[in-house]
Amino acid sequence: MVVVMNLTAGSEQIAAVQQRLEQYGFEIHFIRGVKRLVIGAVGDRQEIASLGLEAMPGVERIVPIMKPYKLVSRESKGKPSTIKVKDVTIGDRSLVVIAGPCAVESREQLLAAAIRVRAAGAGILRGGAFKPRTSPYSFQGLEEEGLKILSEASQETGLLTVTEIIDEASLELALKYVDMVQVGARNMQNFQLLRLVGRSGKPVILKRGFSSTVEEWLMAAEYVVSEGNENVVLCERGIRTFENATRNTLDLSAIPLIKDLSHLPVIVDPSHATGVQRLVAPMARAAVAAGADGVLVEVHPEPCKALCDGPQSLTPEDFDQLMVELRMVASAVGRVVGGGCI
Ligand code: PEP
Ligand code: MN
Repeated sequence: MVVVMNLTAGSEQIAAVQQRLEQYGFEIHFIRGVKRLVIGAVGDRQEIASLGLEAMPGVERIVPIMKPYKLVSRESKGKPSTIKVKDVTIGDRSLVVIAGPCAVESREQLLAAAIRVRAAGAGILRGGAFKPRTSPYSFQGLEEEGLKILSEASQETGLLTVTEIIDEASLELALKYVDMVQVGARNMQNFQLLRLVGRSGKPVILKRGFSSTVEEWLMAAEYVVSEGNENVVLCERGIRTFENATRNTLDLSAIPLIKDLSHLPVIVDPSHATGVQRLVAPMARAAVAAGADGVLVEVHPEPCKALCDGPQSLTPEDFDQLMVELRMVASAVGRVVGGGCI
């Protein structure tokens, strides 16, 4: 880190900062400019907060050099990570396509969606059984019943399954029924939940919080990995901006950025990012072109009857068409749509 002293810092103040840094084992180097002194301090970044340097007289600001995340950082691993969810690999040359309704509503609804997305080539079936809704009066999900339906759809179609968990109890249940869990945007900074997911070892999709920076998102992933679970797939799902013509603003630049900063795979959810059915396919294609390792798309057999997120859900026919388009974009960027059954 670099400690920038202010213009009026006197020798006693400088000596006090030096003493504090040395006391905590930092190796220090003075850089004397024309007007001010800068102290380069080499040591453990985690210690910075406990040093109280910013509050010391004469200190203008502290500039950290190292990233605060370690285990998920690109430099901690020589190459990008691949994550195995049974026979599906995420993060290699193949693209994972995760599709299904926002919420599991009934056996008939989920099976109809599952059969169609499998036939089109999806690798993983999604469906929410615990829905964190903005309104307490909205449909909250079928809970364990929904998980049982997901498991049945998996047995019928051979698709793997993913579902969102919202607390310890839903995690415990989900571990019994699905192959992968999802931590939603609203829970991205639920650190206790992240630790529990970390201890479970279950592959997890970690959505970006809608007001979270990339650094906060990676720190959330660090929570999971620091508990011993390396099976984290990041999912960009749009962030809140002033624009309200779309539900969120898809931050496509986050994809190549994450690839620079982290070894974890990153996928894109164009459904929640746009909230508009007509915009889902173009953004899914753009995500693959930008280097995403897959997409997560909401598909409903009858979007107009959906209990949740109908306006952004593709019909099975739309999804068939999207898969054709994704195969073309994938081949243009040297990848294949994989993990599916076609
Ligand atoms: C979802 O995937 O159904 C969902 C609620 O997503 P997000 O957490 O990104 O809003
Ligand atoms: Mn949804």
